[in-house]
Amino acid sequence: MLTGKTALVTGSTSGIGLGIARALATHGANIILNGFGDVEAAKREFVDLDCELGYHPADMGAPSQIADMIAYAESTLGPVDILVNNAGIQHVSPVEDFPVEKWDAILAINLTSAFHTTRLTLAGMKSRGWGRIINVASTHGLVASANKSAYVASKHGLVGFTKSVALEAATTGVTVNAICPGWVLTPLVQKQVDARAAADGVSDAEAKRRLLAEKQPSLQFTTTAQLGELAVFLCTPAADNIRGAAFNVDGGWAAQ
Ligand code: NAD
Repeated sequence: MLTGKTALVTGSTSGIGLGIARALATHGANIILNGFGDVEAAKREFVDLDCELGYHPADMGAPSQIADMIAYAESTLGPVDILVNNAGIQHVSPVEDFPVEKWDAILAINLTSAFHTTRLTLAGMKSRGWGRIINVASTHGLVASANKSAYVASKHGLVGFTKSVALEAATTGVTVNAICPGWVLTPLVQKQVDARAAADGVSDAEAKRRLLAEKQPSLQFTTTAQLGELAVFLCTPAADNIRGAAFNVDGGWAAQ
């Protein structure tokens, strides 16, 4: 279904980005990976698939490196047809103590990077008559939690950005949507599980149970494979008229 398409997934050396990249590749897309994780391990996830792979180490906090990554994608696998803005970081702290450099980094990586990748690829998608922009926001793009001010601001911003660009592209073949996961057990969340286990003096399993019980009514983590299949669905003709939507995949978190 996606054969011949080029998909760029930012932050795809682990977690959700890797899951989405693998799902898109399973349906035929060629993939540009990006991120700071173990690149060779990430590439091994694709060995059983018939897809072309590229990798660019751009720091999503650095606009000039983002421009280099888009140029690299175009020169190796061709123009970007599917853009998945997924790279993201977290820092947990009361706002009075929030380190200024952490605030700046979270806004740059979680939000501003999507502006740069979008501004550099949207015109090409429009001119070719087809494109998909999928922004990985969060339940924290829809509701808040204490001590996550920068993350919540960045993800609410990303949902707003999604809607605005979706409207700008509304009469074209390019759709722009957001995916809003609740808890997904990735390295980003494992750090929060570890902090919880240390703070409460409990086991890893108990820390996970407490984390889920607090927010996620299903008491189950969303999986990266589930998010990958949603991204694939957004690339099908059935999703041609889904524009500016934000999909909760959160076990009921935002329904409360
Ligand atoms: P993760 O830590 O496994 O993956 C993050 C990826 O981003 C990694 O590949 C990392 O190397 C990359 N990255 C980090 N900083 C970068 C930078 N400056 N430049 C380029 N790449 C960078 O985390 P994840 O949980 O898979 O998170 C992926 C996205 O999903 C993030 O935007 C996160 O906010 C969002 N999200 C995660 C959850 C969850 O529960 N895990 C829930 C909602 C939203």
